[in-house]
Amino acid sequence: MKPLGPIPAGFVAIDGELAIGGHKVSDLVVQAGRTPLFIYSRDRIAGRVAELRAALPAQVALNYAVKANPFGPLLQAMAGLVDGFDIASGGELAMVTAAGIDPARVSFAGPGKRDSELEAAISAGVTLNLESEGEADRALTIAGRLDVSPRLAVRVNPDFDLKGSGMKMGGGAKPFGIDAERVPTLVKRLLAAGADWRGFHIFAGSQALDAAAIAETQAETIALAARLADEAGAQPPKVNLGGGFGIPYFPGDLPLDLSAVGEALGAQFQRLPTELAGTGFCIELGRYLVGEAGVYLTRVVDRKLSHGEVYLVTDGGLHHQLAASGNFGTVVRRNYPVAIANRFDAPVDEEATVVGCLCTPLDRLADKGGFPRAEVGDLVAVFCAGAYGASASPAMFLGQGPAAELLV
Ligand SMILES: *Cc1c(COP(=O)(O)O)cnc(C)c1O
Repeated sequence: MKPLGPIPAGFVAIDGELAIGGHKVSDLVVQAGRTPLFIYSRDRIAGRVAELRAALPAQVALNYAVKANPFGPLLQAMAGLVDGFDIASGGELAMVTAAGIDPARVSFAGPGKRDSELEAAISAGVTLNLESEGEADRALTIAGRLDVSPRLAVRVNPDFDLKGSGMKMGGGAKPFGIDAERVPTLVKRLLAAGADWRGFHIFAGSQALDAAAIAETQAETIALAARLADEAGAQPPKVNLGGGFGIPYFPGDLPLDLSAVGEALGAQFQRLPTELAGTGFCIELGRYLVGEAGVYLTRVVDRKLSHGEVYLVTDGGLHHQLAASGNFGTVVRRNYPVAIANRFDAPVDEEATVVGCLCTPLDRLADKGGFPRAEVGDLVAVFCAGAYGASASPAMFLGQGPAAELLV
């Protein structure tokens, strides 16, 4: 038997069934009308935000990285919980606008912004995190044509990365941001061109569970921002310190020690370099805010044996939960937290492999896990499904189409 990932704390059973937001999953499936289904819990998201507010220094603003989960009702709920929104495309700009979010709260990072996306963002008053000098030129030209002073921040490609992070986004040659040594020159140019320079965006990595590594990166980020401000001869109005707070997905993963991160950042703020005395700080988080608030539910359509091994074949799969199948940025496949949702408090009595309905050996939701005996019609829950699920999976593969989504 292979271990399953840790089920996030706080999920309980009602009448033996997994419950989310006080509702049994079978009732939620009836409400949604079908499986496969993503369910996101408002309470869990609000609880997470409250934990962050309690642990982090009060002067650090909290941004939501929309790419983690752009579901409309979830964005609307976020609008009242976080301070800012980070988007990565014109499509996400349309989504936040549709959710009624004020574009003044939005910043836009991401390589390869088209002219039409730059124009939409500049007209709306969104802050652009510039990814290159060429993008800066295009933004200034478009702003000139629109006769507005664009809100421009500079995304810095730092000369360090977030240690132990699942996805490195800084250090060495990268398609993201502008190499640190070229940033002061660009800032001077933006100021000379009459742009509304908003400061720096420095994102060094993702999915770190080690508080010390995050604290070290935040300290390096503050030092880098101060150095660049000094060289540019201008105080940045804002510094986005990045994020990178991870969640436990796999066996042996332990939750991030949030209070240690908060204390270290508080200590940094106590001895802030003078170049940053008037600067506002924010962090941007995706999965840490929503990942553990989401559950993917899929129904067992077949139970079969092959060479003595039990296969539970479900109506879902990697086309909705690419990450759980091990095909989204992981090198070695390990099991996510998975359970038989309608037998949530039943003891383990067999080893089974949970697969999706796609005709590919990649489509595996749990490999040789220990489960209560499951039958056709039972519901499988994949946890940690609130981030990089529905919108980060190839829903059209094999003509399957998207899962239903529900915020409760
Ligand atoms: C993807 C991304 C995030 C969110 O990462 P999480 O690991 O979900 O917190 C934040 N900022 C930038 C620039 C990103 O590319």
